[in-house]
Amino acid sequence: MSNVTVCVRFRPLSSKEKRDMGDNICIKKFDSENFIIKDEKEEGFTFSFDKVFYEESKQADVYEFLVLPIVRDAVNSINGTIIAYGQTGAGKTYSMEGPNILESDERKKGILPRVVDGLFACIKTSADSTKYTIKLSMVEIYMEKVRDLFDLSKDNIQIKESKTQGILLSGATEISLLDPTEALQSLSSGIANRAIGETQMNMASSRSHCVYMFTLNQQSLSEKRVKSGKLVLVDLAGSEKVEKTGAEGRVLEEAKTINKSLSALGNVINALTCGSPAKANHIPYRDSKLTRLLQDALGGNSRTALLCCCSPSPSNASESLSTLRFGARARHIKTSPLIKVNEEKCSDKKNGAFSGTRDESFEKI
Ligand code: ADP
Ligand code: MG
Repeated sequence: MSNVTVCVRFRPLSSKEKRDMGDNICIKKFDSENFIIKDEKEEGFTFSFDKVFYEESKQADVYEFLVLPIVRDAVNSINGTIIAYGQTGAGKTYSMEGPNILESDERKKGILPRVVDGLFACIKTSADSTKYTIKLSMVEIYMEKVRDLFDLSKDNIQIKESKTQGILLSGATEISLLDPTEALQSLSSGIANRAIGETQMNMASSRSHCVYMFTLNQQSLSEKRVKSGKLVLVDLAGSEKVEKTGAEGRVLEEAKTINKSLSALGNVINALTCGSPAKANHIPYRDSKLTRLLQDALGGNSRTALLCCCSPSPSNASESLSTLRFGARARHIKTSPLIKVNEEKCSDKKNGAFSGTRDESFEKI
């Protein structure tokens, strides 16, 4: 059984695409799961996904289908990951953040502000005897270095694996979120820091992967248990090929690194879908920072959703096709992960903090 839900989102044609190609689009829509895309030679390829969001789709539709079930699970201490993939300009950041992270128009709000609202709404309805804390870390992976977006002096964060908590950003700043307004302010400051880093390093946001990591801890005071859920959102760097952009020098080096990490991601997905036990024993997570960070998401203890963002324009058909092929492969990830509730029994309570032993009961799906 696959643990990855894969959806596709086609953004509306841009004004440039309209100027170049009129209202032409390269897709023939069947229904909300199936369509054909034509490449530049007019050859058609049929694709099926868990859901296809066409140009007129709403931000709320994407959130409700793809993200909300994972947010609910995270509140119940099951890890979740949401990844946006696609070429530059395909709508990854629009889907994740909205036109602006502080967007006030409810309809335009992206996944992140909705996740914030969703988390706080779930917490509000929980029992009085449960105490929740939500923390947020934000990092950016650029040229194989992980930078803390809440503290730019931390420019080489290490990715570590803990037996009890899985993949961790060691030493990354964690901001405690007390209410939705404060949470959005924190996200906004992280995003602003991303822009500062870009200027310092002379890069564009499409050249780095941005990772938002929410950690939810809940203490049940009556049952003396501590549960935790991790919700990771990833706005990936653009997946377009280097040759087309005519990159040189540093930009070429950047593009190669990005392509390396995205192809490492492709290799991990291939290894997870190949069905050969020998290969399945060696999944090359360590080949890039990105795949190491996504190790839980792809082959482990996480419910995962992939949003493949595409332009519907014939001028971007080959990039869209490559994005769709990536998504189609991810849909075949066949590991049967041990998705579990992250729970610890509390054997002791000191200074208000629980210390506990891991409950080894797994929920196998
Ligand atoms: P990416 O992050 O993939 O590089 P962006 O999210 O920045 O791409 O989108 C590129 C442009 O297209 C932006 O101007 C954005 O506002 C617009 N856009 C993307 N998706 C949509 C959408 N679903 N509806 C309206 N505009 C969109
Ligand atoms: Mg972007």
